[in-house]
Amino acid sequence: MELTLASISDYHASLYDQPNGCWMAVSHYLSRIRENEHLNAFLEVFEVEALEQARALDEKRRAGAEMGRLHGVVVALKDVISYKGHALSAASKILDGFTSVYHATAVERLLAEEAIIIGRTNCDEFAMGSTNENSAFGRVLNARCPSRVPGGSSGGSAVAVQAGLSMVSLGSDTGGSVRQPADFCGIIGLKPTYGRISRYGLIAYASSFDQIGVFGRNVPDVGLVLQCVEGADDYDSTVSRTRPEWPAAKWYEGKGPYRIAYFKEAFDHPGLDPEIKEVLEGFVKRLQKDGHSVEAIDFDLLDYIVPAYYILSTAEASSNLARFDGVKYGYRPDTPGLPLTEFYKRTRSEGFGKEVKRRILLGTFVLSAGYYDAYFTKAQQVRKLLVERTDLIFKDFDIIILPTSPSTAFHAGEKMDDPIAMYLADIYTVYANLTGIPGISVPLFTHSNGMPFGIQAMTNRFKELTLLQFSHLLMQYKSYENPTLCD
Ligand code: GLN
Repeated sequence: MELTLASISDYHASLYDQPNGCWMAVSHYLSRIRENEHLNAFLEVFEVEALEQARALDEKRRAGAEMGRLHGVVVALKDVISYKGHALSAASKILDGFTSVYHATAVERLLAEEAIIIGRTNCDEFAMGSTNENSAFGRVLNARCPSRVPGGSSGGSAVAVQAGLSMVSLGSDTGGSVRQPADFCGIIGLKPTYGRISRYGLIAYASSFDQIGVFGRNVPDVGLVLQCVEGADDYDSTVSRTRPEWPAAKWYEGKGPYRIAYFKEAFDHPGLDPEIKEVLEGFVKRLQKDGHSVEAIDFDLLDYIVPAYYILSTAEASSNLARFDGVKYGYRPDTPGLPLTEFYKRTRSEGFGKEVKRRILLGTFVLSAGYYDAYFTKAQQVRKLLVERTDLIFKDFDIIILPTSPSTAFHAGEKMDDPIAMYLADIYTVYANLTGIPGISVPLFTHSNGMPFGIQAMTNRFKELTLLQFSHLLMQYKSYENPTLCD
């Protein structure tokens, strides 16, 4: 049997006949990365190391050792996740020269299952953005159409999977940064429940929203990676101690029919691309015809969710990013003898990019004494209402479906001068982060502009099994056909 890289289980099956299979897989991805360097998906590739790890795994397998669940699986890591002994930049100048001193828990667990980390991927600086254009290391190109963005903030990790530069990848999702780039790139992107995967070793943006997520080409791969990295961790008290249930074999085969809801206001929103709306409405009918109950429900809170997200997440960011002061690590101005306050100012003015500064300012403002109640407290109240409403919805429904993004991938530069327009495009993704529920973007359709788009599904907290089973079912409807059109 020839080496197959279509899915992890196919790959593992093909390894029985391939004594050097892991080495071959890593070599394959390394040459794909080299051929696609112009996409700027990787900030660093661990070439020598990955080949060495592959060789060691091949040897171990040949000696008859049992294979880890991610044996030889080639993973790309968003550069906000710590990998001990390797540079970590958050795509920012301010972490210049910084090296991780420990493994993130997710990385520790990937390695324990014998995954091979092939490199660290480009992203928006500190995961703030929707296009990957906020990186200090240049934009990432959408491999489908290079004049367009891959989405963000985990653009590099999305393109790594999209362009076949790694088998799967990890990103982080604070307001949509896994689901939206997955949508723009035509792959699967899962944001698990808040508290499912440890945030230990993940650079904090907004701690009550941040969650590590998984990109892949098929549901079984994404679910397997989740199974390997999830679960309680002494280093992160917000991770649930409940052990998630995963039926042994073929866990992704669900039963259905499902009780599905969608928000009327979301489908009728003026910002939604009319073609996406039409396709999704048609798809609702198709699901109904196939025996599922799909109902439109009222959701009058929709217009409050983007403001609430940008108030709360920037407030948390302004506090989390206070640690980057140039004293202990990272970038520092090269003028010696500056007074301390001046030193901080210079470090932060020179080290942070424009969007990060904007968010620190915004966050500091909404937390300031005179405005705290008008903004921060109000936004917390909106968050509470959203959680209560969500709990009620899941009394009657298994799944909520929404678009992932109001449009297909933007053209490069299109929204860079209009931060509000950029923020508003997060309308469908931030809901899951505000409420902590899991969400996934499943690539199903092709727009007449040639770009992929998908559908977003969400379940109640810790119901990833249902979410992934439903997604696996959705994938049977996939009609994305990889057109050549690119404007
Ligand atoms: N686009 C959102 C933002 O700019 C999402 C960021 C994220 O999920 N990390 O905040």
